[in-house]
Amino acid sequence: MSTAVVVGSGPNGLGAAIRLAQAGLSVTVLEAADRPGGGTHTSELTLPGLLHDDCAAIHPTGVASPLLSSLGLERHGLRWLWPEVDLAHPLDDGRAGVLSRDMARTEASLGSGDGAAWRRLFAPLVADFAKIADEVLRPVLHLPRHPAALARFGVAALPPATWMTRYWREEPARALYLGSAAHVFGRLDTPLSGSVGLLLTTAGHAVGWPVAEGGSYAITDAMIRCLESLGGSVRTGVEVAGLDQLPGLLGHTPDFVMLDTSPRAAARIVGDRLPARVRRSLNRYRHGPAAYKVDFAIDGDVPWTNEECRRAGTLHLGGSAAEIAAAEAATARGVMPKRPFVLVGQQYLADPSRSVRRANPLYAYAHVPHGHAGSALEAVTAQIERFAPGFRRRILAVHARSVPQLAAGNQNYVGGDIAGGSNHARQLVFRPRASLDPYSLGVPGVYLCSASTPPGAGVHGMCGLRAAESALSRLGAGRAIVQAWRGHRG
Ligand SMILES: Cc1cc2nc3c(=O)[nH]c(=O)nc-3n(C[C@H](O)[C@H](O)[C@H](O)COP(=O)(O)OP(=O)(O)OC[C@H]3O[C@@H](n4cnc5c(N)ncnc54)[C@H](O)[C@@H]3O)c2cc1C
Repeated sequence: MSTAVVVGSGPNGLGAAIRLAQAGLSVTVLEAADRPGGGTHTSELTLPGLLHDDCAAIHPTGVASPLLSSLGLERHGLRWLWPEVDLAHPLDDGRAGVLSRDMARTEASLGSGDGAAWRRLFAPLVADFAKIADEVLRPVLHLPRHPAALARFGVAALPPATWMTRYWREEPARALYLGSAAHVFGRLDTPLSGSVGLLLTTAGHAVGWPVAEGGSYAITDAMIRCLESLGGSVRTGVEVAGLDQLPGLLGHTPDFVMLDTSPRAAARIVGDRLPARVRRSLNRYRHGPAAYKVDFAIDGDVPWTNEECRRAGTLHLGGSAAEIAAAEAATARGVMPKRPFVLVGQQYLADPSRSVRRANPLYAYAHVPHGHAGSALEAVTAQIERFAPGFRRRILAVHARSVPQLAAGNQNYVGGDIAGGSNHARQLVFRPRASLDPYSLGVPGVYLCSASTPPGAGVHGMCGLRAAESALSRLGAGRAIVQAWRGHRG
């Protein structure tokens, strides 16, 4: 039986492990932290019983993931829950753009002119969403299966996000679009900077922005149960520093090594066996701006001025499109903006099991410069207070995680970058390096499978799936050669 080891138990590590176990390999996952899951954890960070998502919280890419939906994770306890409003983007004048699975609700929030323009742009993409997801959740260099759907998506994804805002006349639509584009974590005036937001917005209309019942750890838990049902296992508290360690740790030399790590960590782990050109690419790989994470325990609800915000699972706080573009540009330049872009999660609205009586968990993070050492707690609190006067009085407890603390908790968050690498145009297309097989590290049997490979960040496991498929295709080719050789001899 062929064997595989997966280094790192984030959703991509587990995705790779499951796919390899499905193919009949004996799979062991080794995880440095004392809990599995990487960016998919849930903890009591503020008050006893209150469930906070440590990292990933909102799951449009999870519910849309061809891998996750193929695994029947519901059998292993995963349940998606949707808020009444998927996303709201409040403005200073009390209006808010709203993203909803119900397109009419979005249109109503944007006003008649912009609402109709929004529908004209998104309705065809939503109709093709499954085809688009199939195309974009894989390396960019591939033979398209749905060329028309991909072309339609590409036309809107290619221009800078700031250009696309000219499509609308009023601020609610412009800001709603640019707030989602800001998930690219970088400048919004460069080619392809709208691509991530375009996908997330289309997903919002097509499948929504749900949360996992009981917290995002439910995704990890279900994936591990699925892996175990296929004979695989996970060991925590084991940090892999080099390939030479593996025979001692496993009791055998694995046929495949899948690295759910940053590109530079992969270069260190593989060491001298790495071809020089691959080492150069991995060491040149760029990381992007960081996140400053804040979790609040609040008494009751956030007193948002705009009514739709009170029903929204996710909120983008940053004001107008121009203000967001400026804040993201400053962050990318390494300058901490006075009013950073802030994402707020009210997961408890869809999932009351996270709350204790009147105390609710509120999730937030700000985009800050790469490696930012200072506090952004006041900036995050002030952005919420700006759109919800009286918020401060509802705070019962706070847990803040600085960029260095975030980076120390998971080696993949280099400099606090939670997107697995800078999403500038070249790295969106060639990730982690220009290659027809971006997962292969040029050493037989060794692959990179983290969010630093296509299709990038998010809890979808698709980087792991694609890396495993790359490994299996070689295994298949190897088996075919052996069979042909045996046939030739016989
Ligand atoms: C604050 C925050 C908010 C986020 N919000 C969302 C969200 O709402 N929705 C969403 O879809 N995504 C979100 N993300 C991003 C998402 O969490 C990541 O894109 C995703 O977890 C990447 O998965 P991964 O498997 O590539 O890596 P990770 O989840 O980072 O897992 C990598 C694992 O590998 C382990 N590891 C690394 N090196 C070694 C080694 N040498 N030996 C052993 N183990 C090792 C690490 O300890 C870690 O457990 C967020 C992330 C953060 C931090």
